[in-house]
Amino acid sequence: MITSQTQDSWDLFLEFIEERCSSTEFENWISPIKVIESTSDKLVLEVPNIFVQEYLVDNYKKDLVQFVPTLSSGEPAIEFVIAEPKKQAQANQISVPVSEIASSDIPKEHQELRLNPFYTFENFIEGPSNQFVKSAALGVAARPGKSYNPLFIHGGVGLGKTHLLHAIGHTIKQNHKKLRVHAITTEAFINDLVDNLRNKTLDKMKKFYRSLDVLLVDDIQFLQNRQNFEEEFCNTFETLINQNKQIVITSDKPPGQLKLSERMIARMEWGLVANIGVPDLETRVAILQHKAEQKGFKIPQKVAFFIAEHIFNNVRQLEGAINRLSAYCRMMGLDVTEEVVEKALSELFQMAPSKRISVENILKSVATIYEVRISDLKGNSRSKDIAFPRQVAMYLAKELINDSLIKLSSSFGGKTHSTLLHAWKKISGQVETDEVLRKQIQMARRNLEA
Ligand code: ADP
Ligand code: MG
Repeated sequence: MITSQTQDSWDLFLEFIEERCSSTEFENWISPIKVIESTSDKLVLEVPNIFVQEYLVDNYKKDLVQFVPTLSSGEPAIEFVIAEPKKQAQANQISVPVSEIASSDIPKEHQELRLNPFYTFENFIEGPSNQFVKSAALGVAARPGKSYNPLFIHGGVGLGKTHLLHAIGHTIKQNHKKLRVHAITTEAFINDLVDNLRNKTLDKMKKFYRSLDVLLVDDIQFLQNRQNFEEEFCNTFETLINQNKQIVITSDKPPGQLKLSERMIARMEWGLVANIGVPDLETRVAILQHKAEQKGFKIPQKVAFFIAEHIFNNVRQLEGAINRLSAYCRMMGLDVTEEVVEKALSELFQMAPSKRISVENILKSVATIYEVRISDLKGNSRSKDIAFPRQVAMYLAKELINDSLIKLSSSFGGKTHSTLLHAWKKISGQVETDEVLRKQIQMARRNLEA
């Protein structure tokens, strides 16, 4: 039964929202919602899929309660009904929202992450910054499910988290051939879940994950702000742990700093939480020597120290330096003398300015130009005065920083990479025709590159 009064209030809500979000957003997320029953104490809405429901509630709960009936708890009194898929039409309805949630640059197949053959314990150089975590990883690999469970490895970018995770995978596969080991990135887990929800094969997926002996999950921080997925992950997690199946998780932050439910955080703290730190000078030198050796490239000790003194907080960059140096020497037919190194390095440093521009700098610059607060840019406000500068900042981040979308977007207070990609597309289009915007972006760039 639709009373005219409540139908009106839903229409008013639509008007209210339409002014506050982009037309694409409105088309994709809001228009597909249908009122199927409306009384003075509840509203029944039909949504094409769970993501639309989640989107509405996550983003507009506060606004909804001003328009629709509420429960005594203050929550909007809305019941959701997922629409029956209509063969053809369904593809259309679902495709846009799901593509926003699912990642565009991650392989579709839910299957196992291929373990990198170089990421073994033998190739992992030990030093004071990683000794503890390495021995914990070795312990888990030797006795899966029987030592630390879960093992939670956290640390900054490029410090060897994925390397250790894969090393555990290799060792278990070699020594415990009967165990079912599955390594996956968090993004792939989410994609898998999206696919299985869409195909109504969730039970199959649950069965699969819950029959594993070892689950290795990379970059759990991408589960932040994904409430529905988090719950499913948490259930899988509990089922496995309760059967003493081994779980290893990596993250860029310790559990307590992740924006996840208390339940999830508590579960991750059940076992051992180990930090992987920035390697000290000697370890960096050893890593450089090891990487050079693997390439059949020799560098004098002095040279290794020289590089290690200049590149100090990211092992991946040390590798990059070796690759560049070896290519340079090969191309020019030169030996690795200090002089050559200085040349090659200075080139490296000249190529680095784009790296020196950080998301923080961009936020600062954009905040000044648009007179908003940095915390607002990182926050979730959808008001146009804030959402627009935020999109400009995201656009600049993608343009100026050579890093993955996933990493960039997480610096915006844990947004998803599809949000960033959406912002970049929108601003790229608008800058073509909007003179004022073009000037603002030029100004920001000048600030940043100065
Ligand atoms: P993270 O997942 O923490 O961002 P990765 O595991 O991808 O970092 O490591 C980045 C690169 O640095 C990889 O190529 C990895 O092999 C290398 N690396 C990191 N730490 C070490 C180490 N202690 N010894 C040898 N190589 C390392
Ligand atoms: Mg990694």
